[in-house]
Amino acid sequence: MKKKVRVRFAPSPTGYLHIGSLRTALYNFLWAKKNEGDYFLRIEDTDQKRIVPDAVAKLIESLEWANILHNEGVFFGKDGKILEKGKYGPYIQSKRIKIYQKYAHELVEKGKAYCCFCASERLDTLRAVQEKAKLAPAYDKLCLKEVSPEDAKKRITSGEKYVIRFDVPETGETEFSDAVRGKVKFGNKNLDDFVILKSDGYPTYHLAHVVDDHLMKTTLVLRGEEWLPSTPKHILMFRAFGWEAPRYGHLCVILNKGTKKKLSKRDGDVSVEDFMKKGYLPEAVVNFIALLGWNPKTEQELFALDELIKEFDIAKLNKSGAIFDTKKLDWMNGTYIRKKNIKELVELCEPYLEKYKEKLSGEYLEKIVTVERERMRRLADIADGAEIYFETPEYEKKLLLWKEMSEENLQKTLAKSLDIISGVKENGWTLENIKNELMAAADSRNRGEFLWPLRVALTGKEKSPSPWEMAWALGKKESIKRVDKAISLIKT
Ligand code: GLU
Repeated sequence: MKKKVRVRFAPSPTGYLHIGSLRTALYNFLWAKKNEGDYFLRIEDTDQKRIVPDAVAKLIESLEWANILHNEGVFFGKDGKILEKGKYGPYIQSKRIKIYQKYAHELVEKGKAYCCFCASERLDTLRAVQEKAKLAPAYDKLCLKEVSPEDAKKRITSGEKYVIRFDVPETGETEFSDAVRGKVKFGNKNLDDFVILKSDGYPTYHLAHVVDDHLMKTTLVLRGEEWLPSTPKHILMFRAFGWEAPRYGHLCVILNKGTKKKLSKRDGDVSVEDFMKKGYLPEAVVNFIALLGWNPKTEQELFALDELIKEFDIAKLNKSGAIFDTKKLDWMNGTYIRKKNIKELVELCEPYLEKYKEKLSGEYLEKIVTVERERMRRLADIADGAEIYFETPEYEKKLLLWKEMSEENLQKTLAKSLDIISGVKENGWTLENIKNELMAAADSRNRGEFLWPLRVALTGKEKSPSPWEMAWALGKKESIKRVDKAISLIKT
């Protein structure tokens, strides 16, 4: 019988979710969904130094925002508190310390790991000597060679501090088949006797995740490339326990477009929260990151989540780095924005216009969104230059002039515009009517000389939406007021 696919996302709660980690979560999720398997969220918080308050809540919020939803593990309860669901819990590693201790000692009993009592001073000296000799830092197995298991037990009972190290074979190679990279081999001599249980009784990541992935029946681990060099250690541990290792797949690195270096916090926006705040839509972010390392091998670029589930295949994951192209993300986001109906978009844009709350009716917001959505790449763009909808524009008279036109001509064209606008009936105040009327007038004279001054009169800006869109949104009364103001400005 085929084993049920079980995958996990296992972040360390560092306070924010990196966009690359969201991709890891997404790929695992897609694989589970595609195979009708389980996808669970495990919190890897054994590094007590890195604990950040509320980090788990933030993580779940980001995942929920992206719609990358797990069916097992750590969740928000109805009261907003963190709770766990699933038969393999606890799913928060700091609640599993005893389990790790038991398994670490089991490896010692099996002769696959040993207790090490070396003081940090000795390790520092050893490292310095190795560094001088241009050797990679590695523990020299002193405690394995010189402390018998009986002595070790006595020393532990007498309260001496110790760590447990894994006994890595000094020769041979560890090989495994990576789901993304194919066969990968590492020489054991390059692997240090790494610590699996620290002197405070906490496990290291190596031990904790191996134990958990075994007990939680993980079948595939898709994770960042940075874990590839540690994977032989993990494979060796699975073998030492006599367990079957899950399949590992190491995802390509995500690169900054300019520097071609790994995308990091220094590059600006990297956390999911940053993207959320700027008004990227979850559909767009998910679609965009799905393509950072997965090649659907078709021309298709826009994928809804259910299409991703259908098309995603670990056999199509790339090894080489993926470039994070913000321009492409912006394009994609704009496309998704324009797929939204006006009502949805109005709701999404409203928070960005908070500062104009007092002057903003539902109807007016709907008009603004209708006018602005064509040029929007992010929801936050709605606020860029939004003052034209709320404040009487201030501008210099000369901005009203199109190229070489004379003031006399300017006055005439604005008077004509005023005439047209005043002539459109309130109940016929539609975008189409206003456009038709204005364009008819524009076509019978110099277009620029007619449309430019009107647009500037309505907005006070060199660049803005068209005069008919602006007039429509502003309404008849306000449009007349603004054109009037422009006319009186010429006279000064
Ligand atoms: N806790 C590790 C991290 O945050 C997970 C690595 C893994 O998926 O095995 O990167």
